[in-house]
Amino acid sequence: MKRIIIHWTAGNYYPTEYEKLHYHFLVDKNGKIHKGKYRPEDNEICRPGKYASHTGGGNTGSVGVAMCAMAGFKSGIIVGNFPITKKQFESCMEFCANLCKKYKIPISPQTVMTHYEFGLNYPKTSSAGKIDIIYLPPYSWVFKEEIGSFIRTKVKWYLNKVKSE
Ligand SMILES: [Zn+2]
Repeated sequence: MKRIIIHWTAGNYYPTEYEKLHYHFLVDKNGKIHKGKYRPEDNEICRPGKYASHTGGGNTGSVGVAMCAMAGFKSGIIVGNFPITKKQFESCMEFCANLCKKYKIPISPQTVMTHYEFGLNYPKTSSAGKIDIIYLPPYSWVFKEEIGSFIRTKVKWYLNKVKSE
């Protein structure tokens, strides 16, 4: 696996069967990790109907991790009824650190990113214009342009913690 792409589901706080088809891992509001239908390895070579399609134009080699949240989100003012919780976010970051360790994925903007960042980097794919993640409810002071690096800093911190344990 060459990278991790982090999403929100734009759904409610718990994964649906449909969402499980699209992400390898889903983090619920309490921080519990749910496995999707497909394994990350199923995305090494994407065969029709046999992989998790989470990132248009970028599924190959990509682990898809989603936080179950953000249905009804419009903006930082209209966040909807399912804002990402702090527990959920932190658990997701710790889990991503474990994935980095397991798959030996370095933490860089090219290898650990949000779906939003992927869309910016690959504007000709169907991921262009995706808004996950442009707003982090538990850290609402982080500007949307900074969320990717904020996430990478968090994942690095958890990775160092894992290594020292
Ligand atoms: Zn997404």
